[in-house]
Amino acid sequence: MLKKFPFRIFALLLIGALMGYFWTLKIVPPAQEVSGYMPACLIIGDVHQAFALDSMETFTPVELNYKGEYFQGIPLADLVQHAEPVTAEFELLLIGQDGLSAQFNGDKLEGCHLTFTVKNGWEAINLNHPVSSNIKRLEKIIVMAQEPVPEYGVNLITPTQNLRTLMPGRIYRQAMTTIPYFEGTSTVTQAEGEYSVSVYSRRTMFPLQDLLPEITVEKLIAMGREGEYAYIDAEGFLELNEKENAFHYVSGHREGEIKNLAGIIINPPARSITDLFHDTLYYLDHGENVLILYLDGFGYHQYLHAKEAGYAPFMAALPAAEPALAVYQPVTNAGFAAMITGKTPAENGVYSRAQKDLKVPSIFGVAQEHGKKAALIEGHIKILNTEIEPALNIDLNKDGLTDDEIFASAKTALEQDYDLLLVHFHSIDDLGHSNGDLHENTLKQIQVVDEYVQELVTNWNGKVFILSDHGMHATEEAGNHGVFRYEDLIIPYIVAQGGQS
Ligand SMILES: [Zn+2]
Ligand SMILES: [Zn+2]
Repeated sequence: MLKKFPFRIFALLLIGALMGYFWTLKIVPPAQEVSGYMPACLIIGDVHQAFALDSMETFTPVELNYKGEYFQGIPLADLVQHAEPVTAEFELLLIGQDGLSAQFNGDKLEGCHLTFTVKNGWEAINLNHPVSSNIKRLEKIIVMAQEPVPEYGVNLITPTQNLRTLMPGRIYRQAMTTIPYFEGTSTVTQAEGEYSVSVYSRRTMFPLQDLLPEITVEKLIAMGREGEYAYIDAEGFLELNEKENAFHYVSGHREGEIKNLAGIIINPPARSITDLFHDTLYYLDHGENVLILYLDGFGYHQYLHAKEAGYAPFMAALPAAEPALAVYQPVTNAGFAAMITGKTPAENGVYSRAQKDLKVPSIFGVAQEHGKKAALIEGHIKILNTEIEPALNIDLNKDGLTDDEIFASAKTALEQDYDLLLVHFHSIDDLGHSNGDLHENTLKQIQVVDEYVQELVTNWNGKVFILSDHGMHATEEAGNHGVFRYEDLIIPYIVAQGGQS
């Protein structure tokens, strides 16, 4: 104690000295210093990093002379750059508190600045543009992409068509209604009687009915960017939430909101990728062995095309594949997890490439609990952490693919009396990425895999499922997946019987 006491005094003296020092450093306030409430100006729309501008300090203002007056202005180009527009070409829409707006091209931002005064709030001072673009009391700056970007917007699709992409910036080109949305009623009882208040929030909502095509809508499934997956009804709304710069689905009868929508599929197929878990368990429990042939990156449209064009003679001779719905995000981790858990990404915890751990048991753990012997034959990387360790296969002969090695391991496994065997082939996905979904090189690889499938199916005693985790779509360069579009989300689901046919 004796030692601590002088130290405390010393510390207090030091703090006092420092406070005095900083006091003398206090900067003289600028003429336009703002105190109290400073409204924010939102920079939102088709950007990766929407933000609220609520201080002059975040950016480096420049000294400007406008009509003989000096002021500090933040270059508009700096603000827009900071928000990271999703496309190189875009337009800007400046909206003032009174609704007055100005729209101009995003590639002509030299001379455009934002300043703040108590009188006019955030104000655009555009030295080169017509003076009508100088919006006072600016509330928001909307970045509107020149082209829709499906990766970024909310996509409306059917199992065979990509219909449209709604973007939080581009949507400002169309009429928008802000509707009072009833949030609830509360009542208090006072001596004088009861006092009630109904609370509403003002929300920008688009009736889903207005966005749907003129086809008979039987079912709708909405998927969120974090793996939410739910049947929704057409009486609902899409809400544009400006603070979150995202679209939410809001149900017509108040329960079931889906945050940050990736898309909605109209009349989805009856089958889902999650059926695999339940179908597998059903057959195992009925004493049948199950072989799962997981052909990575093999979309339903590729299956149809390969079958038609003669690149998959063996699979063509099997019972026809049913189209099945995969999950968002249509990438390997999420598709694989949905397949082996029977649960949606939100439930099993794997909704993108970033997650590896399952929150629920997989078919391997459940099979083992039921006394079954299970194996997983993989490529060179372990994709998910499951109850069993995968048998990994590296590219021994250095031909650029691991499927030949995977096939050899699978043939060995056929001799080992597994009740459940899952073989994960990768080459259709590899060739799809480097060539395109329907490119001849990809189709030729489908043919190679078709031969592997033939050998394994004919030598298997039991049930066989052939399916994929996601599909593949054509890009300008080659092929890719991970987007809410039918080519990525609809996969083939084949149920067959093993053995010589
Ligand atoms: Zn994959
Ligand atoms: Zn891939």
